[in-house]
Amino acid sequence: MAVNATPESSPPWVLDFADGDRSMADLLGGKGANLAEMTRLGLPVPHGFIVTTAACREYLRHGSEPPGLTALVDAHLARLERDSGRRLGDPADPLLVSVRSGGRFSMPGMMETVLDVGVTDDTVAGLARRGGDRFAWDCYRRLVQMYGRTVLGVDGALFEQELAAARTTLHVSHDGELDALTLRALVASFRRIIQREVGEDLPQDPREQLRRAVLAVFSSWNVPRARFYRRQEGIPDDLGTAVNVVEMVYGNTGPRSGSGVCFTRDPASGELGAYGDYLPNAQGEDVVNGSRATIPLAQLAQLDPAAYTALTGHLRTLEEHYRDLCDVEFTIEDGTLWVLQTRVGKRTAAAAFRIACALVDEGLIDLDEALRRVDGRQLSRLLHPQLGDTSGHDLLATGLPASPGAGVGEVALDHETAARWAREGRDVVLVRQETSPDDLPGIVAARAVVTARGGLTSHAAVVARGMGRPCVVGAADLTIDLETRTVTTHAGVTLAEGDTVSVDGTSGRVHLGRVPVQPSAVATRLAGGATDTGTDPVSDAVLRLLAHADERRRVGVRANAETLPDALAARQYGAEGIGLFRTEHTLLGPRRELVERLVLDRDRDDALRQIGELARADLVQVLEVMDGLPVVVRLLDPPLHEFLPDLTSLAVEVAVNDATGVEDAEAEERLAAVRRWHESNPMLGLRGVRLLTVLPELVDVQARAVAEAALDLRARGLDPRPEVMVPLVAESAELVLVRARVEAVLATVAAEHRTTLRVPVGVMVELPRAALTSGRLAAVADFFSFGTNDLTQTTWGMSRDDAETGFLRTYREQGLLAGDPFSTLDVDGVGRLVSLAVREGRRTRPDLGLGACGEHAGDPDSVRFFVAAGLDYVSCSPPRVPVARLEAGRAEVLEPVAGGAWADTR
Ligand code: ADP
Ligand code: MG
Ligand code: MG
Repeated sequence: MAVNATPESSPPWVLDFADGDRSMADLLGGKGANLAEMTRLGLPVPHGFIVTTAACREYLRHGSEPPGLTALVDAHLARLERDSGRRLGDPADPLLVSVRSGGRFSMPGMMETVLDVGVTDDTVAGLARRGGDRFAWDCYRRLVQMYGRTVLGVDGALFEQELAAARTTLHVSHDGELDALTLRALVASFRRIIQREVGEDLPQDPREQLRRAVLAVFSSWNVPRARFYRRQEGIPDDLGTAVNVVEMVYGNTGPRSGSGVCFTRDPASGELGAYGDYLPNAQGEDVVNGSRATIPLAQLAQLDPAAYTALTGHLRTLEEHYRDLCDVEFTIEDGTLWVLQTRVGKRTAAAAFRIACALVDEGLIDLDEALRRVDGRQLSRLLHPQLGDTSGHDLLATGLPASPGAGVGEVALDHETAARWAREGRDVVLVRQETSPDDLPGIVAARAVVTARGGLTSHAAVVARGMGRPCVVGAADLTIDLETRTVTTHAGVTLAEGDTVSVDGTSGRVHLGRVPVQPSAVATRLAGGATDTGTDPVSDAVLRLLAHADERRRVGVRANAETLPDALAARQYGAEGIGLFRTEHTLLGPRRELVERLVLDRDRDDALRQIGELARADLVQVLEVMDGLPVVVRLLDPPLHEFLPDLTSLAVEVAVNDATGVEDAEAEERLAAVRRWHESNPMLGLRGVRLLTVLPELVDVQARAVAEAALDLRARGLDPRPEVMVPLVAESAELVLVRARVEAVLATVAAEHRTTLRVPVGVMVELPRAALTSGRLAAVADFFSFGTNDLTQTTWGMSRDDAETGFLRTYREQGLLAGDPFSTLDVDGVGRLVSLAVREGRRTRPDLGLGACGEHAGDPDSVRFFVAAGLDYVSCSPPRVPVARLEAGRAEVLEPVAGGAWADTR
């Protein structure tokens, strides 16, 4: 029979460690590729070979062992036997192997591994000659247990029960103290369990053990928890796992042996120095499964100085070779050190920044590479304040971590209460069943927001993230009773409105009482607030990499802001202007009534005058902070119904009046007016430029406010640079109309001041039709700014406010959507519209200004797309400005994202 069953062109099914390297992780899996790499580096890795992911894929495709695989494995086993000097099944001195899973991407603990393959009734005595009776029977016990569970599918609890009983009988606390006789009895009883459960015994042919263990590891690719993990992490389902067959080395031969796991530096703080856990007289699985208390790695220096020195030397070698933090599994057998696994290790956000900079200082990487090693998600985690020690504070509920950071305050159950208490100087946490746009003043006033319903893209979540408010949504354990003004938890705890809770938006937890909050040191430093420069290594690292990102990036970063505090924060965080000033902010809360009066034609002129004055006052403040920098003022945008009284409650009021014979002409008049303006689909109705077309006086007052604010500041010697942006344009004629009106007002005001004023007028591209007709639009617009929230909503034809409660949830559960298009830009759909608009807009007008101002502009992945698409700037909420700066810099040193490519093709 041909040993080489693999056709020449297709990838090999089996490869020796000595023939691979780390570039081959697709084929060898991460674990296998790194074992091969370490073998090449001359580290003490036991001999072994890899059954590749190609073989696994073949197995998964056909559901059976690929023909010829056994022969290939036999051939490589023969080499392993030669190299190790031992033979599988040799009664005198048997070779044992481990059969280990390991795919392209690390999936810790999700798949299976079988250790000690090769012990049989015939070889156990020979094994005892190597490490004693206890050791040999311990290996046998482990094999029967792991093989029974993994290969034969026997419930692991059945074995655990036996082990627990044995420990009780012998009065010992862990398995390492069980004696040879007991272990021998356990092997027998485990085998009886297997017989009883599946009618089979452990094969007494070691090759059969090996063959079936390999297939079981293949199959473990598809166990439910592995599938679930892949979905969470976005790992494709069709990659398959490799199987590493590795000569066993033994940490369980006695006190001079042991196993450990360690890191080349502290993965939590990033501090230099080996760090890890060690367990004497144990095999590796004992360290990670937590069955026995480990000792700190540093103590190994006393226990076995030679092995410790060797280990730290290897750790240095690995760091220098991988030029990054590595984690390592090792085993010491009678004083001899073996390295069993390494990979570039996971780390906290703080450690990521610190390590990247440390590696630059050590000359291992340059600053560009350091920038590739950190990302915006990590930075945003570092910028949010965090809860301190929660001990002594009951956990009330756990929901989805919608917006990171910590917030502590008194429970307020509606937005009026929240806003009122906040005005009184109290800290409040807004707790709602779910939130609606009306809750906005409450969200603004609150330290944190908690909802019982809704998901990560629910209104509360989106708004809270936009404003940097910590937020937990979907805390289903909470029942809110607005009658009794209480919140009851699943566990039966009842809180009254006004009780204090602590919210951790980073983990999604809500605690009872006042947990101390630690302001983020990094945020303080970034805002320039700390004077103790140089004492916090994490902040130092963040500042250094941000400075490098600024040096690299070509796109500008602006902020979305309309209040003085937000504008100040934006400047401190490094914003180079304002990309979105929402004039409707002026009309929030009680000021809503002004628009109502306009619509209902009550004291119209006075209402208009007031709207203008309020807008002007806000603008003066913000333009002053942004002196010399652009401020894009968007004209009034929200749908009309957000300003009008609620139709239903008004109708009820009038009906009650009728029934009780109360005469209220005004209520009836209002009802008639609200009916007249009522729309069945307001989000697709009278908003943006449409509202401005229907009520053109609104354009006039806003344009006048912009002009007067600018001229005010100019008179004070400043350099205001306002721009006017028209929302929700679908057709260039709309823009022509509004633009003419804006320019007429600007000219009038300028003339009144005996001067001239040039204010660019642009358009917010947030409807597919605007993007599709961008060539024409650019002829009448000075700039485009992509409003990707609405553009996503209108491109997909689905509402972002209902995204999580409705069908989208089902979609996500069924894996129909890879990501959330409302948080990360949908490059394939919405992104194409953006690129098309960029291309055709610039064709009409090469100097067309281009920006983006949706939620996406602060999303790390989306920023890279915007850079590739050729925008001039992105504009996001102030707390996300540093994140956008970092990602814009990273975009220049990383491979360009897809999307950049089709931006230049038809
Ligand atoms: P995981 O991916 O879950 O860490 P591993 O394949 O790394 O699974 O193996 C589980 C444990 O068994 C690890 O602690 C590992 O170090 C240990 N181990 C694996 N192969 C051997 C071997 N040949 N000799 C000794 N210990 C081993
Ligand atoms: Mg491992
Ligand atoms: Mg919009």
